[in-house]
Amino acid sequence: MSTVTTPSASALKYPPVQNYVGGKFVASGDAHLDVFNPADGQVISRVPLSTAAELDRAVEAARKAAPPWAATPIKERVQVFFRYKTLLEQNIDELAKLVTEENGKIDSEARAEVLKSAELTEFACSLPQITAGEVLEVSRGVECRIERYPVGIVASITPFNFPNMVPNWTIPNAIALGNCMILKPSELVPISAGRIAELLREAGLPDGVLNVVHGGQTTVEAICDHPHIDAISFVGSTRVAKIVYRRATSNLKRALALGGAKNHLIVMPDAEPEMTSSNVVASMSGCAGQRCMAASVMMAVGKTDHIIDRMTAILRKMVPGKDIGPVISREAKERIEGYIAEAEGAGAKVLVDGRKTTVPGKEGGYFVGPTLIDHVRPDMRIAQDEVFGPVMVIIRAGDVDEALRVENASPYGNAASVFTENGGTARYVMEHASAGMVGVNVGVPVPREPFSFGGWNESRFGVGDITGRGSIEFWTKSKKMTTKWNREAGVNWMS
Ligand code: NAD
Repeated sequence: MSTVTTPSASALKYPPVQNYVGGKFVASGDAHLDVFNPADGQVISRVPLSTAAELDRAVEAARKAAPPWAATPIKERVQVFFRYKTLLEQNIDELAKLVTEENGKIDSEARAEVLKSAELTEFACSLPQITAGEVLEVSRGVECRIERYPVGIVASITPFNFPNMVPNWTIPNAIALGNCMILKPSELVPISAGRIAELLREAGLPDGVLNVVHGGQTTVEAICDHPHIDAISFVGSTRVAKIVYRRATSNLKRALALGGAKNHLIVMPDAEPEMTSSNVVASMSGCAGQRCMAASVMMAVGKTDHIIDRMTAILRKMVPGKDIGPVISREAKERIEGYIAEAEGAGAKVLVDGRKTTVPGKEGGYFVGPTLIDHVRPDMRIAQDEVFGPVMVIIRAGDVDEALRVENASPYGNAASVFTENGGTARYVMEHASAGMVGVNVGVPVPREPFSFGGWNESRFGVGDITGRGSIEFWTKSKKMTTKWNREAGVNWMS
């Protein structure tokens, strides 16, 4: 991404992106970046790089909105999200199109993302049922109870790969639980966030409860340092997750930072060939491999060539631009192709090569075709780093323990899966994989609501998960209350 040099604001397909503060879209200062459509490389909008002062205005709006919002009963707060869910569904065509334009996903993937946002919102609507407090008479006449309170002003910093869904990992739960939020979307895909804010306003969310502040590193640093932001959730690469987690917690804030991934699929020789090959291919190529749950290493245990042959055949039939979208940027395309070349140079065998992919009519797009590389060694960079593109490497293993040793050695720990027809093998991998989300015969083992999303190791810093039940603790403070209403003395140890 370069700083803005190109079309005048009126020539852009989408008007320049603005911050959303206190229920209004507001113009920002001079510093902007171009926003590109990755499918053709065209500039479609521009995004402001907000300063600490601009962030401060959003935090002030949130602070004004916070007391009445926190005092609104949760059953009333979630009414906004019932309406918001309906609006997401009613506007799915437009929302999916925005995702496709700014992120490059093909239409079916963009729609799936918006549907997932609706499911996340549905979970938030059930929070009153789930978060009812606890109460017990702990001693005669003495009662203990736990009530949950919002943390206060929270920030959500999100990545480029799910412009609609990842903001909706945090917005419905955090806000339904009584917090006010500053959303800082990825500067690569800032357009969807504005529509999300508009739909929430239409659903009846009071002004100032959600604010959107755009920008990059400087804006994130200002969020980490702001004295009136109480908690920060982050989703993005491990490199930045570490920076944000350290900076937020050194400022004594509550923080949860989800990082990158290197997900291993262990394919056993007894795996069902048809289902396994199509699942593995879908996992590595869906969203052009730009999912933190995408499989990128296949541990091929024993005789699995019949499965690899099927995968090769499916991948060769995939049509870039139709079945698989572009990657996010020219830099990403170059990085991914560099990894492929390096692996080939180190002796790996490229079975399907996605380099030099162009799509007719979209020659400026950042396409990398699906790529399958066999005979990769665990010590190669392509086997260790997060490549974040439609690339699957195959590492051969003699048995399941050897496969697990490679999986366990990765510093990441988001997801792992095993493909087998043997229940004992499946259970063994479920127990021994070093990952927060494990699948059996499932290529993308994303837990569906109400189960929570969150990895292990360097894929997540902080305690708790970012969605589902696991997020409730993060977005609330519990108050423990002990009361005694009997007037006699000496009936129990608290008298
Ligand atoms: P990224 O880390 O580059 O950016 C994420 C956010 O951090 C953006 O909002 C960006 O503006 C900000 N940022 C970038 N550099 C920064 C810096 N130096 N200091 C402070 N803030 C900075 O991630 P990305 O490229 O947008 O997204 C892809 C990554 O996100 C992949 O690594 C992917 O695995 C990961 N991801 C993880 C999950 C998960 O649940 N674990 C989910 C989605 C994406």
